[in-house]
Amino acid sequence: MTPFQFSTVQELVEKASYEGTTISQIVAQWEVETSNLSREKIFEKMSNNWKVMKKSIEEGLQKEGQTMGGLVNKAAAHMYNAILTGIVPQDRLSKTIYKALAVAEFNASMGCIVAAPTGGSCGIIPAVLSTAQEEYNFNDEQIVWSLFTAAGIGLVIAEKASVSGAEGGCQAECGSAAAMAAAALVELLGGPPQKVATAAALALKNALGLVCDPVGGLVEVPCIKRNSFLAVNSLVAADLAMAGIPSLIPIDEVITAMGEIGRALPESLRERAQGGLAATPTGKKYKNE
Ligand code: SF4
Repeated sequence: MTPFQFSTVQELVEKASYEGTTISQIVAQWEVETSNLSREKIFEKMSNNWKVMKKSIEEGLQKEGQTMGGLVNKAAAHMYNAILTGIVPQDRLSKTIYKALAVAEFNASMGCIVAAPTGGSCGIIPAVLSTAQEEYNFNDEQIVWSLFTAAGIGLVIAEKASVSGAEGGCQAECGSAAAMAAAALVELLGGPPQKVATAAALALKNALGLVCDPVGGLVEVPCIKRNSFLAVNSLVAADLAMAGIPSLIPIDEVITAMGEIGRALPESLRERAQGGLAATPTGKKYKNE
């Protein structure tokens, strides 16, 4: 039998709905059929990703000192302390924020992270899923399965548009990560495949047009804090989808639009560090320093 192939999220939704299963199971099966690895091996590899993600939250939080470029100084620790001291409420939002900061800071300090889908956007998926685990007591196995859903969405985006800031701006990096995280979260929360797709669409729509303008060409400003903002974007998208609020524009059309917007962006706003925040007087000052 010819293995199932997919190039759209809608195909994943239809296949999962038809078989009465989840998108994660369909993506895992696709991975088995296309990689010639066993299901156990594939699950083990994804489990390792999850372990690295969790470790990067812990180590990013405990990290001493500044990032490599010195543009961000213990942002995650500051946020965490603000939670502990009651300056900000201890809730799903604040936990997601500090975890996203921790992983993104760890990345900017040469720590070991999972590029999900890229290094610049590495904090979003771990923050959303780790917070979901904490809030809803999901076990590791459940979280690992949800990563296959995130991967499926990421695969379609990479194929139809891009997950590269140099190609499509930050919408392609952090926007894609937000869509992947929102989709994984909805599946974890028991949402059917259509709601998973809706969450991805809502998250990505809200990131369209986001440019890539890293100060000094370093993945620090605006990247690290942007991970926390886009992680929260995922929570909103997941909540909207779970509440049954649809996306007028389906995910596959949003992905196509994202690709077109990326191609229309001037080169200076696609990771060249020549436009936007990178070209501000302060941005240039830090670059020169
Ligand atoms: S601004 Fe550019 S370098 Fe920074 S996370 Fe976004 S895409 Fe990556």
